[in-house]
Amino acid sequence: MRVTFLGVRGSFPCPSPTNRRYGGNTAAVALHVAGEPPILLDLGTGLPRLDVSEGREDGRPFRATALVTHLHLDHVQGLPFFPPVHERGTELDVYGPRQDAGSLRDAFARLVDPPYFPVPLDDILGDLRFHEVCDDEFPIGRATVTVRPVPHLGPTVGYRISWDGGTLAYVSDHQAPPGLDEVDEAVLELCDGVDLLIHEGQYTPREFPAKADWGHSTIDYALRVATEAGARRLCLFHHDPWRSDDDLDALVVEARSAIRGATEEVMAAAEGMTLTV
Ligand SMILES: [Zn+2]
Ligand SMILES: [Zn+2]
Repeated sequence: MRVTFLGVRGSFPCPSPTNRRYGGNTAAVALHVAGEPPILLDLGTGLPRLDVSEGREDGRPFRATALVTHLHLDHVQGLPFFPPVHERGTELDVYGPRQDAGSLRDAFARLVDPPYFPVPLDDILGDLRFHEVCDDEFPIGRATVTVRPVPHLGPTVGYRISWDGGTLAYVSDHQAPPGLDEVDEAVLELCDGVDLLIHEGQYTPREFPAKADWGHSTIDYALRVATEAGARRLCLFHHDPWRSDDDLDALVVEARSAIRGATEEVMAAAEGMTLTV
C-alpha cells in the first residue's frame, strides 16, 4: 500500500517561508493499492493536491472512500474544493463519527451551506454518500477497516487499515491524559503491532501544560503510544501551525534518541512525502 501525505498540519493552513519543507496544508492522506479506488484519510486543505488521474486513464469517473476522524475544519475543509466532487459520476463514500445531534450528512451540509460556500450539498454534482461509524469493523474492497473512538474534543474516531499485506493506524487528533502517562485501550487496539502509525504530535512537553485540554498530544506521547502498541514505524503528523521546518527537524532528532521496544523508526510527515507499507 502506498501512503501519500497531502497535508500534514494541524489546526489551520499556515504556508510560510519557514515551513516550506513540511508544508502548510491541513490533514489529508491518500492510500493507494493498484487496481482499487483510493482510501483517503481526512479531507483537510491538502486534499485538492491529490493526483486524481490515477486509475482513470480511460476517463472513468472518480471513485474513492474517505475515512474522516472528526469534523473540525482542519479535517474537512478541503472537501468543497476537491475538483471531482463537482463532477457528475463521482462516487465518494465518506465515513465519519456519529454526531451527538443530527446526522453526519447534516453536519457536512452545514459546512457548505451558503454563505460559507456557494454550492449547497444537495446541488453538488458528485454522489457523496455518508456513513456513520464509532466502534466498527468492515471491508472496503480488499481492505479491512477497524474504527474505534479516540479521546479528543467532540465525537472523534481513529482508523486501522489492513490492505494488500500492510497494516496502518491513523490516529490524528488525540487528547493525551494530563500526566501523559497512560494510553487509552481503544487506541492501543487500533495501533497494536502496525507497520506504520500516523499519530499527531502537536506539542512539546514544555508547551503541553498550557494547552493540556486543547485535545492534543505531545511528540513524546506519540512515541509512548507507538512503543506500548508495538508499532514498527511512527510518523508524526498534525504538526503545530507555528512550528518551523528547523524546529521540527530538531524535535525529530530528539524523538529518535528516545526510540524503544519494537519501534524502529520515527519520522515527521511532510507534504508530498510517500511511504510504502
Ligand atoms: Zn486537527
Ligand atoms: Zn480536532
